Amino acid sequence: MKLDVNVLRYLSKDDFRVLTAVEMGMRNHEIVPSELVDRIAGLKHGGTYKVLKNLLKYKLLHHDRSKYDGFRLTYLGYDFLAIKTLVNRGVFTGVGRQIGVGKESDIFEVAQEDGTILAMKLHRLGRTSFRAVKSKRDYLRHRSSFSWLYLSRLAALKEFAFMKALEEHDFPVPKAIDCNRHCVIMSLVQGYPMVQVKQLQNPETIFEKIIGIVVRLAEHGLIHCDFNEFNIMIDDEEKITMIDFPQMVSVSHQNAQMYFDRDIECIFKFFRKRFNMSFQEERDDETEVEVDENSRPSFFDITKDANALDRELEASGFTKKEQNDLDKFIEGGMEKNEDSDEDEESDDEEETVESNEEGNLNEMRSLQLQEEEQNSSNGVEAEVELDDNEK
Ligand code: ADP
Ligand code: MG
Repeated sequence: MKLDVNVLRYLSKDDFRVLTAVEMGMRNHEIVPSELVDRIAGLKHGGTYKVLKNLLKYKLLHHDRSKYDGFRLTYLGYDFLAIKTLVNRGVFTGVGRQIGVGKESDIFEVAQEDGTILAMKLHRLGRTSFRAVKSKRDYLRHRSSFSWLYLSRLAALKEFAFMKALEEHDFPVPKAIDCNRHCVIMSLVQGYPMVQVKQLQNPETIFEKIIGIVVRLAEHGLIHCDFNEFNIMIDDEEKITMIDFPQMVSVSHQNAQMYFDRDIECIFKFFRKRFNMSFQEERDDETEVEVDENSRPSFFDITKDANALDRELEASGFTKKEQNDLDKFIEGGMEKNEDSDEDEESDDEEETVESNEEGNLNEMRSLQLQEEEQNSSNGVEAEVELDDNEK
């Protein structure tokens, strides 16, 4: 997805106020009624409607008139809110080129004032498995805002918390710098995903290092669950960095053994194919690297560390409910055979939660003020610099 951040230059304080108002309205409404946007934004003299037009023009909002006149944020709108907040916090000053397109994310370079380049991961849950979101409708019945927006925010929050904890325990991961909404800022990893590597000086050493990481993770109570050549980076010195953590689970997860075995199998398979490593007794071929199949770690041999990270993480970061929401979605997405009937389910996407609307409105107003205050606490509002090559 293209992130034309140039638009940021043309957005005023009022534009952001209205954009934030739509975001807040989306807690209770899939499509936020125009009058509600206006009430939350609280701009004078019908100012909201003019601003809404502007935001539409830049594709930060989507206008929906199918049931009533209302708006919802687009991914771009959500991106801008996160970017603006992080820039105002002084985390970075400019957005550069896109360096990665994941299954459910976009990765960009961002620059700090002193020229340091960081990586920005924008989570886009539901991009490839929107049906999975729909099929979980049951579960979402009472939270119509349980949407890509909520899920992407949870994914970012989880990824940030895990990256931080892993780094503190000396796992080779990017340095977690900051997080806002669906956006995680981390150090830029030099090198490339393993999938691009055709040759290694010491495949056995790298192989053992990687398997060692899976085992040590499990000893710390965790399973990566997507540990493969796409999520392992390697640099010219053959230094390994693992990335991509939103789907990690605890070793006490009911499918833990399956996930553990799958991670291990992915590595075995990749090294077997790519580097011609042999895990069977094929001693007749001298060129093959021998690794005893018996060395394959077993989930049941893992001794869990007393200060395991899974508990530590459970206690911090986000609530059990948020964790469950995200896990349900991610696991749902991993199941290939979606029940298509569920798509037919009652179309209650726009179901709104009218009760307590006034209370919510006040809460939203005060949140908006807090956000604005936080954003301007560094004095003058920061400007975002842009990489013009992007255009
Ligand atoms: P997804 O969850 O969508 O798979 P990833 O976190 O795996 O996203 O990132 C997708 C791609 O972006 C990676 O394969 C890698 O090429 C690149 N990437 C991600 N994080 C970084 C980083 N910190 N530094 C450099 N490149 C990165
Ligand atoms: Mg990935």
